[in-house]
Formats: sequence, structure tokens, C-alpha cells
Amino acid sequence: SRNHTDKRVASTCCYCGVGCGVLVNKEKNGSITVEGNKDYPVNKGMLCSKGLNLHYTVNDKSDRLLYPQMRYNKNTPMLRVSWDEALDRTAAVFRTFIDKYGPDSVAIYASGQCLTEEYYVMNKLIKGFIGSNNMDTNSRLCMSSAVVGYKMALGEDCVPVCYDDIELADVFYVTGANPAWCHPILWRRVETHKAANPDVKIIVVDPRVTDTCAIADLHLQLNPGTDVTLNHAIGRVLIENGDIDLDFVHNHAEGFEQYSTTVFKRTLAESAAICGLRESDIRLAAQYIGGAKGFITMWTMGLNQSVAGVNKNLSLINLNLVTGHIGKPGSGPFSLTGQPNAMGGREVGGLANLLPAHRDLSNPLHREEVQRFWGGTAINPKAGLTATEMFEALNDGRLKAIWIVCTNPLTSLPNVRLAEEALKKAKYVVVQDISNKPETLKYADVILPAAAWAEKEGTMTNSERRISYLNKIVDAPGEALPDAEIICRFAQKMGYKGFDYRDAAAIYGEHVKLTAKTNIDVSGLNYEILKEKGSVQWPYQKKRYIKDSRRLFTDKMFYTASKRAIIHAVPDEFNGEKPTEDFPLILTTGRIRDQWHTMSKTGKVNKLNQHFKQAFIEIHPLDAQDIGLVEGDIAVITSRRGEVQVKAKLSVEIKPGVVFLPMHWGKILGNDLNRANNVTNDAVDPVSKEPDFKYCAVRVTKF
Ligand code: SF4
Repeated sequence: SRNHTDKRVASTCCYCGVGCGVLVNKEKNGSITVEGNKDYPVNKGMLCSKGLNLHYTVNDKSDRLLYPQMRYNKNTPMLRVSWDEALDRTAAVFRTFIDKYGPDSVAIYASGQCLTEEYYVMNKLIKGFIGSNNMDTNSRLCMSSAVVGYKMALGEDCVPVCYDDIELADVFYVTGANPAWCHPILWRRVETHKAANPDVKIIVVDPRVTDTCAIADLHLQLNPGTDVTLNHAIGRVLIENGDIDLDFVHNHAEGFEQYSTTVFKRTLAESAAICGLRESDIRLAAQYIGGAKGFITMWTMGLNQSVAGVNKNLSLINLNLVTGHIGKPGSGPFSLTGQPNAMGGREVGGLANLLPAHRDLSNPLHREEVQRFWGGTAINPKAGLTATEMFEALNDGRLKAIWIVCTNPLTSLPNVRLAEEALKKAKYVVVQDISNKPETLKYADVILPAAAWAEKEGTMTNSERRISYLNKIVDAPGEALPDAEIICRFAQKMGYKGFDYRDAAAIYGEHVKLTAKTNIDVSGLNYEILKEKGSVQWPYQKKRYIKDSRRLFTDKMFYTASKRAIIHAVPDEFNGEKPTEDFPLILTTGRIRDQWHTMSKTGKVNKLNQHFKQAFIEIHPLDAQDIGLVEGDIAVITSRRGEVQVKAKLSVEIKPGVVFLPMHWGKILGNDLNRANNVTNDAVDPVSKEPDFKYCAVRVTKF
């Protein structure tokens, strides 16, 4: 089997949604080394800087949480306790709140880095037994706009393409993404494809000139927030040029008439002015797309993290639909997942508005079906609190207790000072983590040490619906336990039945059963198959195994009620925070190449810290000149919510009027002035509830 090659054990990189295969060698002294898995279809042996340094994060145990800790009240110190003491007390506290204030007084806030099995038991615990839907994850900050976009357009939260489509496409439209840094191995495949086929056209849409632009044939450096206007303008030119797939829009889609009316509301000149682009460039983009044999749109946070995130997604998916570029080789709308298992989490229903296997919380039949399967309490029809709503509810007292698993909200949430206030006010905070570094620990009443990557087994699903099995390779340090085991032990302390799983495989077995006969049916799958094959894409049904699950909608039958794809004529209004005289610049945030999220893992690796040693602001020299700021000066970035002070990095690669801050840095030694989320905006998309990390009004001054 591929699982044990020369004593090397197969696993999957735990950082981004690309989901590269790795082989892990266990040395005699217990440490590990990591290399790319040449047999793995995703990366064929390649790894990016983060993946290449994975072993450091496992071998260096200096920051690991080793045993449960607890304090009896907010004024007493944390004490080392046993697992039983920590979980007994937590169960007693949860029981008290649930009895006194109802099930919605407690919540779980987890992570797109959790394994599918972990998500599954957390979701079952809170929705099936506690009776609340207050289970959300940091995927809300990342993918929820794409989820809604796919559901509205295709009838299902599903990425219809696969990575092998990259080599079959001849036009790529990459928008709101910097895959050269954030999905590096996937982008290597695009680069290699382009190098071998110079006629392949790459259009990049971004207010910044990023490394992704290095191979672009056309860079559309649009004004932030104007994505829908741009996509509509391209749609208009496609119609004018007769580059519409009429068979597809008439026989397999609906909404084209309305769409056509909408995109003709603005002249091209008007749209170009709004977007800050040349008309000729928009025409050129439309010309490339119109001539494509295989057309892939690729996007991520630049579209998703927006108050108009859903509309941006829909306007983009429309470009695939009106040209009929979906359900065929080398074509389709391809949302790049940020986190390694955001997709797996949704498969088990791990968001506040979902049930397992993408069932709908609002559907009484779905609720009944799941309740019967779990044998617990009636499932609450009311959607739970989403990520930012949980912290609002802690602030106003509706929520009493929060259980934070594998995420670091005090660095990653927008307008983070509100979250800080919220955790101060919370009656009971459980923090389940691997590292003693997250700022959140300061507010914990109970700290539960978790096993990390390579210390536990389970599954993840990457951006192309590929499910992989991750081996347990080394023992967790101290008394740390796998997250799923912690949750199951707690559930049993609460007296709930159905959490005494033999092992992770048993949890997985239960999950796959629940997917039977749904669109994401993986009822034919188990650990044995995954270990044997290395990985498979969903769906993976029991009897009628669909041989080619690489690409969805090849039969042009969509998952909507009418079986047609829906072209949504979305408005192009953008209600982001308006710049004013006081706050004249637009701030956008994002990742840097060598760090992952809030740096609790990658920040431990010296090599990775060399790329950028500290936080910075990227600002155009013209804007810097107005302020009297030169390279290396300390800049003060102020918004209506807070302040950041970082070194200025002058760059002609960012659009004048726009500034950029990296998202990774939090509080360091009590200093929180590197933390981008001091200033970001917690306004959310009205449907997806995803916050806008890409657009807020700021002022920059010299320190
Ligand atoms: Fe890991 Fe993503 Fe890099 Fe692959 S591209 S090695 S999955 S971080």
C-alpha cells in the first residue's frame, strides 16, 4: 500500500486547502522528517516552504500544552488538574448554564484545521444532544461566501472541477487570490502548464501586483470593492461579441434574460471608470475568455471576505455559466479553499446553519432524519450563532460559555478588540489547543491540551473534493489527547449516549452512513479504502461507484430544483465602509508566503521567519509622500476601531489609495500594535455572514 513506503508513513500537509501528500520518516530518536509524496496526485512530490518545514513544528515541543489546567474562578490561578477533573467541572458548568439559560447559552467555536471526525463529534454533541446550533468555525471567516455562491448557482456547495483540469484549461481568470503565495503548489501546476503552452492566457484581478502576476498576460488592477462591476462588464462584452453559449444558457441554465438586462445597465466606459481600469483591458479580458476552449475562474478571500461576498461569487460564477464553461474538461468555477479541511468540516455540517452531509437546518425532514440517526434531542430549527455573532453574544450576555478549539480568535477575528472584551465578559471559556502561545489562553477557565498533526489519525478534504487519510505517526506529548477523544469524553460526562466510539474509524463510519443518497454520498468509503488508495474524491457511493468523480455536472444536470444552473443578476452596489477625509485610504489585509494563519506553528520555524521578520504596511510612494513617510519609518494606521503601528514598506505594486497589512501577527510580549485586526471592520455579508477583511477606511500617519 502507498501508506507505508520504505517505513515512510503517508499523510497530508495540514496547512492550506491544496492538500499536498507528504511522507513522514520517523527517526530512532522519535523526531520526524517530511518529504513530498511523489505518488500523490495533487503535488507529485512538490512541497512549498511551509510544507517543507512541517517537521520542525512537530519536533519542537517547547510550546506545547502538556496537561489539563483549570481555575475555579477568574481570580484564582490556573492549576494542573486531571482530565477527569477538567471535564467533570466543564460538564457541571455547561449543565448549569443549559438548565438555567437554555441550550443557546453555550457555543463551540472550532477551526477549518480540525479533522472531519473532530468536526463530526462536535457537531453531533451540540446540535444532536445539547440542542443548540451554536457551532461555527473560522471557516466562516474564509469560505462561507463561496458556499452560498455555489449553493445559489449550482444547487450545492461543491467545487465542480479537479486539479487535473488545470492542465486542460487555456484561459484562467484569477481574482481576489494570490495563489503564488497562498496556494503555492497548485500555482506551480499553472506555471508549468503555461511554460509548456505559451498560448495559455492568465488574467489576474487584484488591487496589488502580487507574485501571481508574474505570469499574467493581463493584470486588472481594479479599485477594491468593484469586482461585481468588473465581472458584469466582462459579461456585457461577452454578450456583445456573441461569445455566449446559447445552448447552455437556454437549455441548462435559467436567469440569462435578467442577467443580460443587468449587465447592460452600465456602459463599458462607466464600469471602467468605477473599477479604475481601461476599457480596452476589460475588452481584452472578455476576448480571452470568449476564445477559451477551457476556462477556469479561480478565487479565494478577495471575493469571499467582503460585505458583498456572495454577490461577488455569483457574478464570477456567471462568467462560467454564460460561456457554458462548466462540467467539461478544463473548465469551471474553482474556489480555492483556504484551510486544509474547511470542506470536510462542511461535509459533516460543521457550521451554524448546516446539518450533516450538507443537509439544511431549515428543512424539517432533514432535522428529523438526523435526529433519528443520532438518537438524541430534537434538533433546534433556529440557526446558531456565526463566528462574529458568538463574540457579540458573549459581549451582551446572551452567550455564557464558549469552547474554542484549534483557533486563535484574538488574532484572527475582525475588529478584534470586541472579541477581547467578549472573552473578558464570558462566564466560562474552554480553550482546547496544542500551543501555549495563543492570546486566548489568558481568558481560559479550562485549558485542554490537544494532540497535533501526525499525533492523531483522521481525514481531511482538500479544494478538489479529495479526501485523504492522515496517519498517527508519533505520540502526543504529555497528556495531550486527540480533539475527537476530548469531545467524546466530555459528551459522556454529560451523560449523552453514542459517543463511546472504539476509534476514529468508527466515527468516520458513522459519518459516511449519514451521507448515503445525498449529493455528497461517500457511503462506500472507509479507512481501509483510504489507506489503500491514498485518497479519493467525492462522491464515492456504495454500490454504484461513479468511476469518474473528478468533475461534476458533466451531464449538465445541476442540483437545483429545476436541475438547471441559475444565473443570478446580482446588483453591483458595494456597501463597504466609505473612505472620508479623516480616513482617506482603503486597507486590505492578506497573507504572506511563509506564514500560516496566526503563526502558532510557522512562527516557530526560523527559516520561515526570514521572509518577513515583522509586520509591515505596504503603501504606494505617492501616498507615503503625502504623509512624509519614507521606507522603514514607523507608520500609524488608524481606523474607527483601533490602531496599528508597523514599519512602512513603500511599493509601486499597490494601487495608490490602497494600503495592505499582513494578517498573521497578534499580540507579542504584550504589544498588540502589529495586529491588523485592531483596525479591520466586522461588517459581514448579509447572507454568508462572512466578515469584510478586505475593505476598511483608515488613516496613515508617521509615528
Ligand atoms: Fe502544504 Fe499548501 Fe504548501 Fe501544499 S501548498 S505544501 S498543502 S501549505
